[in-house]
Amino acid sequence: MAYVYGPVPSWRMGKSLGIDLLSVEEKTCPFDCIYCQLGRTVNKQIRREKFIDLRLLKAELETIKDKVRADCATFSGTGEPTLACNLGEAIELVKKILSLPVAILTNAALLKDEEVLLSLLKADLVIAKLDASREEVFQTVNQPAAELSLNDIKEGLWQFRARYKKKLALQMMFIQANKDCAGEMAQLAKAIAPDEVQINTPLRPCSVKPLSQKEIAAILKEFFTLKKVTTVYGATRPIVTPLNLAETIRRRPEYR
Ligand code: SF4
Repeated sequence: MAYVYGPVPSWRMGKSLGIDLLSVEEKTCPFDCIYCQLGRTVNKQIRREKFIDLRLLKAELETIKDKVRADCATFSGTGEPTLACNLGEAIELVKKILSLPVAILTNAALLKDEEVLLSLLKADLVIAKLDASREEVFQTVNQPAAELSLNDIKEGLWQFRARYKKKLALQMMFIQANKDCAGEMAQLAKAIAPDEVQINTPLRPCSVKPLSQKEIAAILKEFFTLKKVTTVYGATRPIVTPLNLAETIRRRPEYR
């Protein structure tokens, strides 16, 4: 299988079957986050394109539909899933064949694009990244394509929240470079009004050290006015056996 991987244990979604609509050799993303477990982004891309033929994805889904045991299907993999211009069609296809709720992990870089927004409206859960409250921290942590600013991300999230009535979670990755922004980020989260805030730190292998449990506990206190806040340290993960180990390792190197 080339486009479907896992299921993998997710602290946010239980048993998560991965769908990679990019399936490229080199990570393709508008960001180059310093904590990315897939390594450096060689070419930052903001142009949407069709990476895979959905007839091939359909064939894979038909092959596994009777044996897969998962809580949801998650669009994520070798880059930013909203770069795929057939995302909306793919969501419909996955729902029809697997009858699973569909989640999207996005860095929110393209949320101001109406086509992206319309595609995401079809998902049951959108988990959007927000790692900074100030432009200089955004540039340091997410290293975005030159065309993008933090204001674009914030405006995109506000617009999306106004139109998306299903579950929106904000994922905030905290490391040394942005931990002092926690109070400001809590204010931003409050203004965006997600259904949930997920406080994360990079526990998977990457070039940046995670924050300690004590540091994350201090950050959590800043979010006391938000209605639901979870942290990576407070979560449990289900035990799963991936259907296809090689493809899973390519997207999730910790399975090596
Ligand atoms: S947005 Fe995700 S895939 Fe892109 S560089 Fe950041 S962590 Fe990696």
